[in-house]
Amino acid sequence: MSFDFRVTHTEGRARRGLMTTAHGVVETPAFMPVGTQGAVKGVTHRDLESLGAEILLSNTYHLYLRPGDDLIARRGGLHRFIGWPRPILTDSGGYQVFSLAARRSTGVPGARTVRAGVVVDEQGAHFRSHLDGSAHSLTPEKATDIQAQLGSDVAMVLDECLAHPADVAQARQSMERTLRWACRARDRFLALRDGLVPGVIVSNRGQAQFGIVQGSVFPDLRQESAHHTVEIGFEAYAIGGLSVGEPIEVMYDIVSRTTPCLPEDRPRYLMGTGTPEDLVEAVARGVDLFDCVLPTRNARNGQLFTSEGRINIKNARYAEDDRPPDPSCACYTCRTASRAYLRHLFLAGEINASTLNTLHNLNFYLDTLRRIRDAIVFGRFESFRLALHQSLSRQPRDT
Ligand SMILES: [Zn+2]
Repeated sequence: MSFDFRVTHTEGRARRGLMTTAHGVVETPAFMPVGTQGAVKGVTHRDLESLGAEILLSNTYHLYLRPGDDLIARRGGLHRFIGWPRPILTDSGGYQVFSLAARRSTGVPGARTVRAGVVVDEQGAHFRSHLDGSAHSLTPEKATDIQAQLGSDVAMVLDECLAHPADVAQARQSMERTLRWACRARDRFLALRDGLVPGVIVSNRGQAQFGIVQGSVFPDLRQESAHHTVEIGFEAYAIGGLSVGEPIEVMYDIVSRTTPCLPEDRPRYLMGTGTPEDLVEAVARGVDLFDCVLPTRNARNGQLFTSEGRINIKNARYAEDDRPPDPSCACYTCRTASRAYLRHLFLAGEINASTLNTLHNLNFYLDTLRRIRDAIVFGRFESFRLALHQSLSRQPRDT
């Protein structure tokens, strides 16, 4: 199967569609659980399939450093290596280089964490591994090669991740560099597809490549970035560099002004966002794809997303609470575990606390997207959006 996207229903700017990849079809708007190292922390692939996850995100930076994209390519690519037959999207690795590598520990027990000094030049990003301190360079070509060897269904171009806040001159410089990198990444992608890059194993002949719109919080830069990224020509387009500390209304505004600059017949992916409220707001502005660590990371910290707001299972008020975490949820956790039991597991440090909390939070996210898709089909998206905001702002939001 080659990459394809079809919008099947719209309501206002919200779209429902079908994204076809080499490993199957994804109904959009879709949420991609984050499987950083080829696994979603706390749950098995069997759990993800039973929750109805149709596509996973995996992190190129982590898999490149360990176990290595060469090793994975020799195993037949990421799908075979991790035993997940459905679609996979890989990021470019850039975000982790700019965040993790820059916080590399000295490796000396008790020593304080130091900035390793990620050096970015026109060629790419030069950094030291957060695992062993070894030196590496991630260039647009290298990021494309690694993802070709991993064989994901969707590869992302390397973009420069600018810290927030940035002034307009810094943002312009970074946006223009991201465009030059996008050209190089596309050239490399097409050369790999044509078999012109010796020494790189192309593990998935049906791989698609998404471009990324940058430009910080400046609408003009965003529109310019979108225009030129679309000119280069990718299978689809992402909005990057948001959810990095800017006020929420600024993020909504930037999304609102960017999506009209992107082709109607291609998926739009808002990277690294967000809360359930953010998802429904972005869908209302024409976004189709999401990923975020919130449901999984918060689950491991004891925070549960429920239809009545967020609850923190550590809270003493749940010590003898026999109700399920979310009375209107039908997930395995809510069918079998009480708040009292989940609190006990968490305080006892049981592995199952992470598993049960993660199952519920992922179900909440995936189910929210399912309901959004249904609402768009029946012309009820606007009322769903209002109802979601009302229910999530109710008690008990205790964290
Ligand atoms: Zn549940």
